Amino acid sequence: MTDAPDFRALFEALPGLYLVLTPDLVIVGASNSYLRATLTERDAIIGRSLFEVFPDNPDDLAADGVDNLRSSLQRVLRTRRPDPMPIQKYDIKTADGRFEERYWSPMNTPVLDEAGQVAWILHRVDDVTETVRLKSAEAERLTIAREQQAIINELRTSNDALAKSQESLKNREAHLEAILATVPDAMVVIDGTGAIESISATGQRLFGYSVPEVKGRIVSMLMAGPYRHTYETYLARYRAGGERRLLAEGRILEGQRKDGSTFPIELSVGEALLDGTNHFIAFARDLSERQARERLLHEVQSELLHVSRLSTMGEMASALAHELNQPLAAIGNYLQASKRILEKNIDPKAPMLSEVMEKAIIQTHRAGQVIRQLREFISRGETEHRPEDLRKMIEESCALALLVTKDDPVVMKMNLDPGIGMVHVDKVQIQQVLLNLLRNAIEAMHGRDRRELTVATKPDEKNLCAITVTDTGCGMSPETQARLFQRFVTTKPQGMGIGLSISRTIVESHGGTITAEPNPEGGTIFRVTVPRASSNM
Ligand code: ADP
Repeated sequence: MTDAPDFRALFEALPGLYLVLTPDLVIVGASNSYLRATLTERDAIIGRSLFEVFPDNPDDLAADGVDNLRSSLQRVLRTRRPDPMPIQKYDIKTADGRFEERYWSPMNTPVLDEAGQVAWILHRVDDVTETVRLKSAEAERLTIAREQQAIINELRTSNDALAKSQESLKNREAHLEAILATVPDAMVVIDGTGAIESISATGQRLFGYSVPEVKGRIVSMLMAGPYRHTYETYLARYRAGGERRLLAEGRILEGQRKDGSTFPIELSVGEALLDGTNHFIAFARDLSERQARERLLHEVQSELLHVSRLSTMGEMASALAHELNQPLAAIGNYLQASKRILEKNIDPKAPMLSEVMEKAIIQTHRAGQVIRQLREFISRGETEHRPEDLRKMIEESCALALLVTKDDPVVMKMNLDPGIGMVHVDKVQIQQVLLNLLRNAIEAMHGRDRRELTVATKPDEKNLCAITVTDTGCGMSPETQARLFQRFVTTKPQGMGIGLSISRTIVESHGGTITAEPNPEGGTIFRVTVPRASSNM
């Protein structure tokens, strides 16, 4: 049998940190590890009260190690059961009286005697200072990592926003480009300093410059002499004090092309905020083109109106002549008869009366002759027949006719036979006929859902060609159709009923015909034939 081991020596050599306390909390034993961890000597603590040896750190106002330990030990005494404690901050007093930060994970276990009473309390602690430190370092690292993540997130968000705004910028640019490519006006985008940023396709054509040739240059380069100077003054004033004389609406000035030629333009300038900076957007309209077009239209229109008035007068004169001819003939006859009666009477004054009557008869004949001549003049007309471009004539007439359809647009179709070049006509008169037909057709379609106007040409018998004007309008009753070309036949409240009769006179004086028939698809087809010019038959 070996000797009983030295339990005290064994206890003191245990690798854990142990203290043995009496129920009144006096230290009676300590493991070597405990002494090392708490920087104490055995002799200095044995026999002393626990809290005398290990007080709270007086500098740590939140220190609660003593209180917590006391409560746990009292619980052990009361319950006689082990009491594990949560991790405690319980600073250790060093030899020089300073306190060192320490964290402990304590466990208090009662040792009972035979009567079941607490004989001793075994106080075991794990020094978890390192772990806690590591943990707090970890926590700190975590906080830093979290902060970094937040910054990254923020960056990402602002990056996204940046990307989005760049995209919208790109979109805006694409949008602007699309506008500039399609806008029918010459449009110039100018920055706050007066430099050109971009110019529309129409603008490039109008001024004869390409984008790189104008980009960044001062906009006054597109203006002629005096206007250029005035505009530069406006620009300088704007830059100096923001005076906005640059803005304009419909200002007429002289533009200058790349080749130096000048032309009238109508300039409108507005302000716009692009990319947060002030810009100007200028619209320049070429007045030379518009003026020329308007002048031409005006000329054709007044020419037609004049002829229309003449024709109307001719028609009236013709009607008048027709109406006067008969009473004149009757007067002549009555005079003849009266003369003969007088000659049979033996009145001394008879020869004189007979002479006067003879003179009246001669004048009546003369009046009759004047009227006949007038009728002949009207029916033959003093017109000028010469080769004319049929397509051009039709296009001009259509352009005029469409002027009246602005509020009630029609679909215009042309189906012109390319084989028919020239016709031998009086241009103004045939255009008058066409205009009349087109206007009637447009009026017949007024307010209807389907409004299709078709003008077609094709060769006709002999040396003629046929022009048809087809509408999808209201059509006409058989009664109207039967009397269509008679004078004063109208179904319109404001109508005169002479358009078609004049048209017939004109067409027939050209050796052609004019007819009307119902359009199988609804509406009416008018058909006019005119002679082709001999050169292209
Ligand atoms: P106005 O137009 O002054 O009435 P027109 O001699 O030009 O005189 O026309 C005579 C009539 O013929 C019109 O009132 C109308 O009833 C009929 N007419 C002419 N063209 C058409 C057409 N395209 N469709 C239907 N009716 C027509």
